[in-house]
Amino acid sequence: MMGMIRVSEVMSRNPIRAKATMTAEEGAMLMKTKGISSLLIEQDGEVVGIVTERDIVTKVAANGIAAGERKLSEIMSTPLIHVEADSPLETAAELMWKKRIRRLPVVAGDKIVGILTENDIVRISPGLIEITRGILTNTGQGIVKGIHGICDSCNEFSDNLIYTAGKYYCERCFSEVSRM
Ligand SMILES: [Zn+2]
Repeated sequence: MMGMIRVSEVMSRNPIRAKATMTAEEGAMLMKTKGISSLLIEQDGEVVGIVTERDIVTKVAANGIAAGERKLSEIMSTPLIHVEADSPLETAAELMWKKRIRRLPVVAGDKIVGILTENDIVRISPGLIEITRGILTNTGQGIVKGIHGICDSCNEFSDNLIYTAGKYYCERCFSEVSRM
């Protein structure tokens, strides 16, 4: 059995902040420059939300809206769902799956001290993703796509697992299975 790992041991420290008044375009540039995929959104010196790459793609680009015309405050997720730095990693993994999010700000006292991504968890403990999948099997009828985790066939991590007939497949294995 795995010993308890705390969120603080796995998280990335000093997450990058951006002002709420920044445009989605500026936010996307900042992420690219820093090589990160999310920004904490700051208003009057306080972190009030989070914007991920995905928010920019789904809420701006996919709707044909010019990224220069949307402020980060308009597309951020708020209130901020977060986890305590001394929580067990299991708790964070469960929260991510329940809320369907891939990044979790980490809080110590009243300060945001880091950010935990699903990839951080997979890197440290791939098994955790397996455990938390139980939540999804209850809802699954037919084919569900876009799940992150380990393929039941080749055991490789995939960003886009396909769940069908009680098993999870990566796209490659799914196309093999569905051909049979
Ligand atoms: Zn596979």
